[in-house]
Order: sequence, then structure tokens, then C-alpha cells
Amino acid sequence: MDLDTYIRDIENFPKPGIVFKDITPLLSNKEALNTCFEALHALAADLNIDKVVGIESRGFFFGTMLANKLNAGFVPVRKPGKLPYTTFEERYELEYGTDSLQMHTDAIREGEHVLIHDDVLATGGTAKAACDLVTKAGGIIVQCNFIMELEFLKGSEKIAFPIKSVVKY
Ligand code: AMP
Repeated sequence: MDLDTYIRDIENFPKPGIVFKDITPLLSNKEALNTCFEALHALAADLNIDKVVGIESRGFFFGTMLANKLNAGFVPVRKPGKLPYTTFEERYELEYGTDSLQMHTDAIREGEHVLIHDDVLATGGTAKAACDLVTKAGGIIVQCNFIMELEFLKGSEKIAFPIKSVVKY
């Protein structure tokens, strides 16, 4: 199955000049959803993951499912002001702006093996911020995995951990 068929390009969203990779067609088709999930799972199946960290918000869709199938826990990394308990925070640069990410201080224990998951690796700022949060908490990042990687933006150069993706552009 060609998952690329289910990833829709939306030009000039959310800002002029950005080609937004819309995964809602992939999520809404049961075969595409399953194929994508199984492919993501296969990337991390043998890694003994303790926690899957999903990045708000599109990293939550598959992140929680992956955690369950990997027999791991799920940890949300969220935009500021969304998490109710004490948080670690990291600032980061986005393809379209700057922002920061937060994670609960008790979400990951020292030495836990962590898989970081998001839908898109673009410039890498978001994933790097998530990596920094996990490292701050004492977690060991085993892999960062994505539905797709926009290779021309060279995001992988910012990430000092193994990177895997199902679709590459
Ligand atoms: P970056 O920090 O540049 O790697 O951007 C990655 C984050 O922004 C991910 O959480 C993506 O969901 C989102 N993102 C960045 N660029 C795009 C894009 N072209 N299409 C869809 N989502 C994107």
C-alpha cells in the first residue's frame, strides 16, 4: 500500500509558503491507518521501550497506540499551559515560528528507554526540544520515529539519536 496517496498537500497552510502535510486522509482510511501503524510499530518493535513520548498534537494519534502495542506507557509533550502538574520546558524553532514544549516532571524515570514519536520531522526543532525534555528527565532516547520526514529540511542533523520514518520526501 502506498501511504503517500493518503497524505494530502495543503499549500499555504497555516502560513503562505508552507506546504502542509495533512494526514487526516490516512487516519480516516482503515487500511491506511493500519498499514501506517504496523509500519511504525515494526520500526521500534525490538527496542524494549518503557515510554513512548508523543508530541502535541498529531504525535498523540499513533503515539498512544504504539505505546500500547509496545507494552510501554505513553507521555504527552504539550504546548505551554496545557499540562496541569509541574513541568520541564524547552523552547524550540518551528518551520513556521517559535514556541516551547512542556512535559510533566514525573513522566519519565531516570534510565527509562524512550521512543519519541511525531507525525512530521521538518526542521527538527520540535523533535530536538522533545529530546531535550526527555534527557532532562533522565530518560534514554532509543529512537525518534515519524510518519514522514521532509529530508530537504535536514531536521535529522539536529537530532543526536536514531531517526526512523515510514515515508520520506
Ligand atoms: P519542525 O520542528 O520544523 O521539525 O516541525 C515539526 C512539527 O511541526 C511537527 O509537530 C509537525 O506536526 C509540524 N509540521 C512542520 N512542518 C509541517 C508540514 N509541512 N506539514 C505538517 N506538519 C508540519
